[in-house]
Amino acid sequence: MDMLPIMPPTLRRPPSRPTKMRRRESDEPQTTTKLTKKGVEMKCNKCNKLGHNKKSYKGNSTKTFQ
Ligand SMILES: [Zn+2]
Repeated sequence: MDMLPIMPPTLRRPPSRPTKMRRRESDEPQTTTKLTKKGVEMKCNKCNKLGHNKKSYKGNSTKTFQ
């Protein structure tokens, strides 16, 4: 009888942190594609200036709060 040498299990996890990914259910809503305004330049349609929008538009004065 030919005895095979005892080998360590071939499937070994690398010594790294376990993945934080949890199993998702198939009917779980996908939240990976988030719609953000990041990178989109705001343009105020009141004074037509970039950097802010009409929500943050505070009159056409150039007053600065100090
Ligand atoms: Zn403006």
